[in-house]
Amino acid sequence: MIDAILVLNAGSSSIKFALYPVASEPRNPLIRGKIEGIGRAPKFHATNVQGLKMDDGMLASIDKSSSHGVLTTQLLDWLEQHDEGYKITAVGHRVVHGGRYFSKPVRIDKGILKELGALISLAPLHQPNNIAPIESLLKRDGRILQVACFDTAFHRTQPRLNELFALPRRYADEGVIRYGFHGLSYQYIASVLPEYLEEQAEGRIVVAHLGNGASLCAMRTRKSVATSMGFTALDGLMMGSRCGNIDPGIVLFLMQDRGMSADQIQNLLYNESGLLGVSGISNNMLALLESSSIEAKEAVDLFCYRAACEIAALLVPLRGLDAIVFTAGIGENSAAIRAQICGHLDWLGIDINVDANNANSRIISRGKSRITVSVIPTDEEGVIAEATRAILRDDGQRGKS
Ligand code: ADP
Repeated sequence: MIDAILVLNAGSSSIKFALYPVASEPRNPLIRGKIEGIGRAPKFHATNVQGLKMDDGMLASIDKSSSHGVLTTQLLDWLEQHDEGYKITAVGHRVVHGGRYFSKPVRIDKGILKELGALISLAPLHQPNNIAPIESLLKRDGRILQVACFDTAFHRTQPRLNELFALPRRYADEGVIRYGFHGLSYQYIASVLPEYLEEQAEGRIVVAHLGNGASLCAMRTRKSVATSMGFTALDGLMMGSRCGNIDPGIVLFLMQDRGMSADQIQNLLYNESGLLGVSGISNNMLALLESSSIEAKEAVDLFCYRAACEIAALLVPLRGLDAIVFTAGIGENSAAIRAQICGHLDWLGIDINVDANNANSRIISRGKSRITVSVIPTDEEGVIAEATRAILRDDGQRGKS
């Protein structure tokens, strides 16, 4: 039996997972996979450490209506009965909202679970999906170590001014502040910055996490000082199907003039806007780049323009800029998007090396560029595995003393 740490990243209709050995700290997990289409037509796929597709025997036991919780216990059963014989010693969870006070990973017990539940109103679309696997694993085997790693935690170093909205102050007291998200991705990038940028790593850096969801983080000395996402993961950049920063008066207009309900507006802003809404074609950047339609081009242009505007806004909290880092699906893979965003910022002295950019190289700016531009693949699962391993190690040491 190989002792292993399971990392779970539960989204609205999917559970991504990765399995790591307890004993070592490899960059590549033993198994990586995903259950998608939850609630509709679930599909399971997994690859092993060599990148080979694994036996999908688990598919047979997936019920169409299975919930996140049920599927999580089935996944553990599948892993434990697997030929290799993995013993899941601990499970690390990505939890979207840690509120104001969770600024680092925590061991989950019944008290913590209650606190996570109390944060549901701050992230009603995401937090319940994160909590369901935790609850079902507690029922399956209460002795297994479970750790919550928060997307908001990395931003708890932001100064108060960046957290405040210009609303009556009682709202801030009640928790209506800028929390920021994608913190596990930013934490990973912060941890490897010196490998890419050497001494510049401690300087003034904007990290652009451009995936289906997209946000920016301004870092100084590798800590968050500002971020583009706010109270919810709707704010800031234009995204795959989320609107990003819009005039809040539009919400009033939709309610008062168009008679839309809160649920309808929520669906519009989260699921029908962004690249999908503007193009009318797709939320998928690759599909839009390959399309010849004028609407697709306008959606891509708006995405890049908005991203550049938001990057420029972060120069105020940073008081300048030394480097930009691109990461996540679009940031890591699309030379065209990086070139277009940097083109809007050429007045800052950004000079892109076209060949390096086309090759997705580690550094894509020329030597004489006033600002260094880098591409760094992110690894949120690795961050969660490492945090879970650290708590396991503490337990082991406490057991010995
Ligand atoms: P998620 O937020 O779901 O984790 P990802 O980080 O996987 O998203 O990013 C998904 C996005 O990355 C999609 O819009 C996809 O089209 C885009 N993407 C992936 N590869 C490329 C590429 N080569 N060029 C442009 N966009 C790409």
